[in-house]
Amino acid sequence: MRASAPPRLPAKIDPLVRAFLAAPGAAESALTRFGSPAHLVFPQVFAANLERLRTVLEHGPGYRICYAHKVNQSRAFVRTAERAAIAIDVASRAELAGAMAAGFDPARIEVTGPKGEAFLRDLIGSGVTVNIDNVWELRRIAELAGARANVPVLVRLSGFAATPVSRFGVPLCQVDEVFEVLTAERGRIAFRGFAFHIDSGEPGERLRAVETCLELTERAYSEGLSPGVLDIGGGFRQVFTEDADAFDAYVGALRESLLGRGEPMAWGGNTFGFHLDGGAVHGTPVFHKYANTVPADRMLADLLDAGLEAHGGRTFAQVAAENLLEVWLEPGKALVDHAGITLARVEFVKETADGSVLVNLDLSRDTVTPADQEVMVDPLLLPGSAHAQPDSGPVGVFLAGRLCLERDLITNHKVWLPHRPRPGDLIVFPNTAAYHMDLSAARASMHPLPAKLAVVHRPGGYEIGHDDEFDPGTLGRESVGPIWHGVQ
Ligand SMILES: *Cc1c(COP(=O)(O)O)cnc(C)c1O
Repeated sequence: MRASAPPRLPAKIDPLVRAFLAAPGAAESALTRFGSPAHLVFPQVFAANLERLRTVLEHGPGYRICYAHKVNQSRAFVRTAERAAIAIDVASRAELAGAMAAGFDPARIEVTGPKGEAFLRDLIGSGVTVNIDNVWELRRIAELAGARANVPVLVRLSGFAATPVSRFGVPLCQVDEVFEVLTAERGRIAFRGFAFHIDSGEPGERLRAVETCLELTERAYSEGLSPGVLDIGGGFRQVFTEDADAFDAYVGALRESLLGRGEPMAWGGNTFGFHLDGGAVHGTPVFHKYANTVPADRMLADLLDAGLEAHGGRTFAQVAAENLLEVWLEPGKALVDHAGITLARVEFVKETADGSVLVNLDLSRDTVTPADQEVMVDPLLLPGSAHAQPDSGPVGVFLAGRLCLERDLITNHKVWLPHRPRPGDLIVFPNTAAYHMDLSAARASMHPLPAKLAVVHRPGGYEIGHDDEFDPGTLGRESVGPIWHGVQ
């Protein structure tokens, strides 16, 4: 046993979610009623995230928030977005159908991503805005539109200076071709503006993209086009950790352990994207996003407040407002940050030949994260209904999945739990709504996918139901008090 406190990766948890987990029997009864494992989504947290972004945008240029549906399949989130009167960004035929079914009219829908022939054909004449990925799409839209439609189009650009190459968007070197098509096909393509989406926490990259898009918007005016939109995409970061110092200390201990110092902390020779070389650890780990401490609303505020050199230092917000350019954004993870958790049960605990403790759960790694991502926030351990007193101190474990595959480890890094879990205990994975719970979940070994449930806080308790039956009609975020009874 180590003498000092074990390394920790404390998760930031929304007060509403924390209160739900602290409500006696709430999580347990959700699993008893709907089965384990289960994903829980919290539409009220989504709504609060949205309000924070809106607050930033309130005093600036005109704007439109398009919820990037692909972050989560939840119907409750889509319906919450619809009820909040924002727009939606869809990336497949099924997402489009889901948005329409939830009540979005085509004027509030934007389609992004690679589309393909069949999807493009559906979109012609539908009234949705097509955010084109490449010149083939642009030309094909004009051909398909023929004389019968004028298709609203955004042109997604990529290949900005000092920005990693992207598989998406029209590279800047092809922009002349874009202008040729836009000016030649005016009756068939209604050009709304330029767009980009950069998944980067580096503010300079987004700012350079903004500057380039503004330049090209001016060129569009001079060519007789009338764009009214600049779409800055998503990529606004989540804050996973509650304690950046503890996070850094954990990663420090992990790096030491990779060099053979201190307690082993990696399963199966995993190096998490670090390179070991000459007794040192180099590189950026696969889990670098977990270190972020800058919330999405601040990233957005900083971008809007950034001075633009080409505009005499006036801010992006000022320049957009002066030019009557509506700023569109496509937040995905920022809207669902802290709005989802995943619950699983402990099946059994065992020791391996090297003395590692494996806590086996009733879900698989792909249910809480894509295979190449390592989740660097500690899960919470809730005692099962039959257990009162813990019978050990903190214990370092690896969480193992239910698949009959060596690689189905849910954590490849050691996790310290407050005590040794017992069969029937609950494990809570915090903050799984964004790209964790259903981006790559598969039905391996014919296990069914976990249920998805929506949880709403009402005065005196929580309402839990199937995600696809959620009705945002009376959604409001009440203050969260200390005592909760009864899960209806
Ligand atoms: C995925 C995606 C988004 C959402 O990104 P987040 O990082 O979740 O905000 C927005 N726009 C486009 C084009 C995307 O592909």
